[in-house]
Amino acid sequence: AAKNAGKDQVTVFAPALRHAQLERTRLTAGLRQAVEGGELVLNYQPVVNLAGGEIRAVEALLRWSPPGSRPVPPDVFIPIAEETGLIVPIGRWVLEQACADAHRWHEQYGISVTVNISGRQLREEDFTEMVLGTLARYGLPEGALVLEITESMLLATTPAETQRLIAVLTALREHGVRIAMDDFGTGYSSLSYLRTLPVDILKIDRSFTTALTDDDQRTRAFTKAILELAASLRVDTVVEGVELHEQAVLLQRMGCPLAQGYLFSPPVSALQIDNLLSLNPWRHAA
Ligand code: C2E
Ligand code: MG
Ligand code: MG
Ligand code: MG
Repeated sequence: AAKNAGKDQVTVFAPALRHAQLERTRLTAGLRQAVEGGELVLNYQPVVNLAGGEIRAVEALLRWSPPGSRPVPPDVFIPIAEETGLIVPIGRWVLEQACADAHRWHEQYGISVTVNISGRQLREEDFTEMVLGTLARYGLPEGALVLEITESMLLATTPAETQRLIAVLTALREHGVRIAMDDFGTGYSSLSYLRTLPVDILKIDRSFTTALTDDDQRTRAFTKAILELAASLRVDTVVEGVELHEQAVLLQRMGCPLAQGYLFSPPVSALQIDNLLSLNPWRHAA
């Protein structure tokens, strides 16, 4: 009977596995076409100042709609792009497009643009020149760009390789490009990375924001400690995933200067950012 049960499991499981592999192959082939086919679009999510409500920055978030099918979420296609190396040309396109869009936003409103970077991109030999060259081509001042990295991109990296990546980040900072640590607090070594990495901004992960309103005392204590540590290191903080007014109030009271989340705006098109910037609906009446 046990043997039969095992056999049944295999017959149920194998088609699902094969389906997942076929799906992956299909997505990989599709992604190869995506850049040239103009199937990629950037959306932008405002980062606002909690005290005054003004938009201070926008985060570029990639969207992919293959022709004739529903949009594929980034959590599905970014890992595939990373494993296949397609993230290198895709990431180059993202940076170009973000700089092209952000140029007028920076010129008129002084806001910066933040771009998510994969470990694979950071490891490219010419990454620094590519970034600085792109900024120059689109006339975006170096200080207007923030690159978001995650601690996970440094996992399984030798100490020598880590030193090299630190040198790359340091070189970019010397040109005024700021570095943000994304999803802060979700990894196992967040604090030690904060000690060793050249970082200007911490983005506190959404899971903290969510737990805050569950009256979770441990989360409150942690969040407060992170905010205080960041302040004393002169590292700026952005809290992610603010959906409730109550969360915004709590975080502002805890000393968090900047926030991002559906309460203010979901990621929207570049055109909608133009409109938001001209209206700036969250700015308190002067
Ligand atoms: P992330 O960089 O941490 O981006 C924040 C994610 O949280 C976005 O998901 C955003 O839409 C979502 N979000 C924002 N506010 C809220 C909120 O109030 N509540 C909830 N529940 N979610 C919120 P998205 O756009 O699906 O992106 C997922 C991840 O994909 C990003 O996480 C980032 O790691 C990656 N990604 C997106 N675009 C790029 C890109 O151009 N390059 C690279 N390398 N990765 C990207
Ligand atoms: Mg991000
Ligand atoms: Mg994040
Ligand atoms: Mg995230």
